[in-house]
Amino acid sequence: HAEKKTMADHLRKYESLLTLTPQRMRMIVHAIEDTLDNGLRKDGQVVPMIPAFVFGWPTGEEKGDYLALDLGGTNLRVCLVTLLGHGKFEVTQTKYRLTEEQKQDEGQALLDFCAECLDSFIRDTLGRTDEDEKLPLGFTFSYPCSQERIDHGVLIRWTKGFGAPNIEGRDVAAMFKDSLTRLNVPAELTALINDTTGTLIASNYVDPNTKIAVIFGTGCNAAYMETAVSIPKIDKMGLAKDQGMAINCEWGAFDSFDHQHLPRTKYDIIIDESSNKPGEQSFEKMIAGLYLGEIFRLVVCELIDAGDLFLGQNTYKLEKAYAFDTAFLSLMESDVTDELLTVIGVFTHFFGVETTIEERQFFKKLAVLIGTRAARLSACGIAAIVSKKGYLEEGCAVGADGSLYNKYPNFADRVHTALTDIFGEKGKKIVTHHAEDGSGVGSAIIAAMTKARK
Ligand code: ADP
Repeated sequence: HAEKKTMADHLRKYESLLTLTPQRMRMIVHAIEDTLDNGLRKDGQVVPMIPAFVFGWPTGEEKGDYLALDLGGTNLRVCLVTLLGHGKFEVTQTKYRLTEEQKQDEGQALLDFCAECLDSFIRDTLGRTDEDEKLPLGFTFSYPCSQERIDHGVLIRWTKGFGAPNIEGRDVAAMFKDSLTRLNVPAELTALINDTTGTLIASNYVDPNTKIAVIFGTGCNAAYMETAVSIPKIDKMGLAKDQGMAINCEWGAFDSFDHQHLPRTKYDIIIDESSNKPGEQSFEKMIAGLYLGEIFRLVVCELIDAGDLFLGQNTYKLEKAYAFDTAFLSLMESDVTDELLTVIGVFTHFFGVETTIEERQFFKKLAVLIGTRAARLSACGIAAIVSKKGYLEEGCAVGADGSLYNKYPNFADRVHTALTDIFGEKGKKIVTHHAEDGSGVGSAIIAAMTKARK
């Protein structure tokens, strides 16, 4: 008859399941590098490496007023960006919350909603009328789109829990232009961009040493600047060999379908199989804000089922899928009190269960394991781009944005530690920093660059 396991016994098990050694990370880095190369060579690869039709870096001297609309995973943001040159800018913005229903609504209806928010921003917030000149608009649409030019983008597939019908496979830019015309919105769509590309360009505008951008929000993705000669699949465009072309990696799809490289646990597999897109976005599902809280919750539910947690208590609130927001992991990790008072608060207020101090210590450490694994995996992605582009010698900055990066305690430090685990001391030359309002400002700069090219 086995003795009842203590929380410390459980912790050891999860430690071994969720810890990534430097050696394991280096294997993942190589696999990601190969995958990125494949995506640059041929169309239709798992990680699509999408040319973003942003040709090279900004000069830093782009100027003027631009509208930016940002459809992320959680919010819809509308901004007026004034570019001042010298790497400076000003932003006025309003946020609108998206409901779960809207994410599953008809594609055109979702875009109409975006157009209505934009219209009310232009007329009510900015006080502009039909008499004023139409402002150019950069639309940050952060889902994988294949582009033929900057104001075009066919949605390959929804990610991050979206499922609006009748939009996958269609040109989102054309559909949105239709919304703008039908609803008489005084704005002119000039660029459709991804948040990663926007963040890349915005961070480089402010600090030219920035060569890579990563988003850690509802999803996880990256962009960087490639040279045309290294993108065989666009040979037919006839660009000069050294022409820069921003690439939206869509790396969240790494290891999808065949699952050969990532150390997925049974919790990752449950998340995948019960998602609206099974098999897809394997890398993202182990890293992004949408999923980390759910990984935590699945472990807790496993222990409840085994009779090792909350015996005799009512746990129905914890048993609801996605009930445990990733923000709770942040809260627990920031708790420095001996009694872990914040952890008490999370479990009593939100889930109606009482915890012992041993359980709370376990929860906090479990959060550390899950958050650290996410940071280390994303560092593997950064390392793959760094090593592919040879940025290790000179070093470079990585512009980062998203709630996970901005609000999760120690996330950036963990990415940096992982980079030195992968590269040794030289890894210290790769430094991430928060990219101030990447997607809004980036789409304005890209709209300005587009105007200058015409
Ligand atoms: P989006 O990616 O939708 O544009 P965000 O960057 O704000 O927007 O990311 C939202 C995700 O971040 C959600 O999945 C949410 O659970 C998570 N999140 C929100 N607040 C926090 C926090 N304090 N700590 C960690 N994750 C958070």
